[in-house]
Amino acid sequence: MKAVLVDFHDIAPEVRHFVFEVPEVEQLHFKPGQFVSFQETIRDKKIIRPYSIASLPDGNRFELCLNLVKDGLFSPRLFEMKVGDSVEMGAPLGFFVVRNPAREAVFIATGTGIAPFRPMVPGYLNHPASKELTLLFGVRHESTIYYREEFEGLARQYPRFRFWPTLSRADTAWTGRTGHVQTHLLEAIGDRRDLDVYICGLKAMVDDVRAILKAMGFDRKQIIFEKYD
Ligand SMILES: Cc1cc2nc3c(=O)[nH]c(=O)nc-3n(C[C@H](O)[C@H](O)[C@H](O)COP(=O)(O)OP(=O)(O)OC[C@H]3O[C@@H](n4cnc5c(N)ncnc54)[C@H](O)[C@@H]3O)c2cc1C
Repeated sequence: MKAVLVDFHDIAPEVRHFVFEVPEVEQLHFKPGQFVSFQETIRDKKIIRPYSIASLPDGNRFELCLNLVKDGLFSPRLFEMKVGDSVEMGAPLGFFVVRNPAREAVFIATGTGIAPFRPMVPGYLNHPASKELTLLFGVRHESTIYYREEFEGLARQYPRFRFWPTLSRADTAWTGRTGHVQTHLLEAIGDRRDLDVYICGLKAMVDDVRAILKAMGFDRKQIIFEKYD
């Protein structure tokens, strides 16, 4: 399949929101949390990179949230794309999806690890059986709380949804949570052990959070994660 870029805008320095369409299909079928794989031949080598879909199913349209890895092979190519350009892609895949919407959940993201949660949060909250949900989102600065207005809007609409951004490099005007997501795990989870925890971001954070959760007594099956590297 080919994905055609139809729109994009920068949401922070070197972080871009992309909107693609797949002209070959009327409906792109996927579950919130799944990813698409883009591929291109670079220097005679086939390069494949997965990207979490950052939108709910909507006809043949899907959105991504990407950061530029400056010395990376593939992401700089995507940042060079202009509206109308296309890229080869595979059908959506992946197991990072809400397993049981009837269980309380904590979603944990850092940086562009927020991408799969953008559709997973409304997907979870719209499910009739869903319960309490906390989204713990770690970024450096207040200006890089991606999709902040959307998550704050959902928190106003659904009192059982708590949106907790935390800043590792907050300036003095910030009155919210500070530090890494790890610092706020206990506050989010308390002595509960009957909820599911979903984690997405770079390996160092994901492994660290998993280790803390295991030490807290969580079972492997309750920890669902996606590592970007
Ligand atoms: C299931 C899955 C979903 C993903 N979804 C997204 C997504 O929604 N948005 C996104 O930006 N990336 C996502 N990634 C990462 C993406 O696939 C690429 O690895 C990333 O774009 C770098 O590719 P590159 O060819 O430019 O860099 P490479 O030449 O492959 O260089 C890799 C280097 O980049 C680092 N790296 C990889 N991903 C990131 C990142 N996101 N931020 C900073 N450094 C990184 C690695 O640690 C490594 O050092 C996802 C990865 C997986 C496995």
